[in-house]
Amino acid sequence: MTATDIAIIGLGKIATDQHVPAIRACRDFRLAATVSLGQSLPDVPAYEDMEAMFAAHPGVAAVALCVPPQVRYPLAVESLKAGRDVLLEKPPGVTLAEVEALRALAERQGCVLYATWHSRHANGVDPARDWLAARRVTGGKVIWREDVKRWHPGQAWIWQPGGMGVFDPGINATSILTHILPDPVRVTRAEFETPANCETPIAARLSLLTGEDAVIDVDFDFRETGEQVWSMWFDTDAGRIELSGGGARTVADGRLLSDGAALESEYARIYDQFAGLIADRRSDVDLSPMTLVADAFMLARHRRTDEFHDEQKT
Ligand code: NAP
Repeated sequence: MTATDIAIIGLGKIATDQHVPAIRACRDFRLAATVSLGQSLPDVPAYEDMEAMFAAHPGVAAVALCVPPQVRYPLAVESLKAGRDVLLEKPPGVTLAEVEALRALAERQGCVLYATWHSRHANGVDPARDWLAARRVTGGKVIWREDVKRWHPGQAWIWQPGGMGVFDPGINATSILTHILPDPVRVTRAEFETPANCETPIAARLSLLTGEDAVIDVDFDFRETGEQVWSMWFDTDAGRIELSGGGARTVADGRLLSDGAALESEYARIYDQFAGLIADRRSDVDLSPMTLVADAFMLARHRRTDEFHDEQKT
């Protein structure tokens, strides 16, 4: 099978850290071009807009959109209208309706649309899903606490409308729990803390409900300068399961089901899956992680808190 020529759009942190090495290591893809205003790779043709890239590389059959969510929709429309298959970084858009519109456009165009959720590919997620499948969840807790200055330096878009604030990492947690819990999950309560100079929350507490009456407490915080925590646990009618390291490590009833580091192998699996979707001409767009976030925004009580200043803010 010949490799698919792919272009990366938006050569920022995640593109550089994960997409470039994952594409280079994947025999199903060849990195043919990049589109970015500020950055380029020494050995890959670089363009400042997609139109010029498509004109110069008619053989580019797929694009990976790694720009912030607020600017992704028009780029996805342009790519799909040009007949290209599209991979969307998470979250797939700034509203649910715009992702639905992309799904419909992809179908009309006969293109593949893949809304990725990288945390679902963490080592411990599928073992957790298998373990939970035959059990009844009775309660749980999700803790996603990280230092925004360490992990998102200078990313002003996170604090602007559509940037989601602490839900930018928090949606990774909702992507995992919507994947592993046997019953649907819904939001029953949400409290946001939003810095006085920002449009999106720096911290959020949620109550979720699953099954008959199982409450899951959620604690998302972007101000954690101590131990960085990306964990969740669930009690069931037959024991407790705990995922840590962003879903990389899973322990059930004291037994290690899987181990690894956060992000390890996640993007290799994303590109394997994208290759499979392209081969089958099938899209994969699951909005359930984002539905929980949207519902939290609809239900939230808001509290203004101290201004947030990132010295590297652009
Ligand atoms: P980033 O470092 O800010 O990079 C985004 C890139 O997109 C920028 O380098 C910029 O490149 C381009 N861009 C185009 N329009 C832009 C605009 N209006 N504002 C800012 N940048 C713009 O962001 P990132 O961390 O890579 O995140 C991108 C997406 O990946 C987000 O949806 C995020 O949730 C997701 N993601 C991030 C991580 C992570 O650890 N950082 C992990 C997984 C997923 P040019 O200016 O050169 O065009």
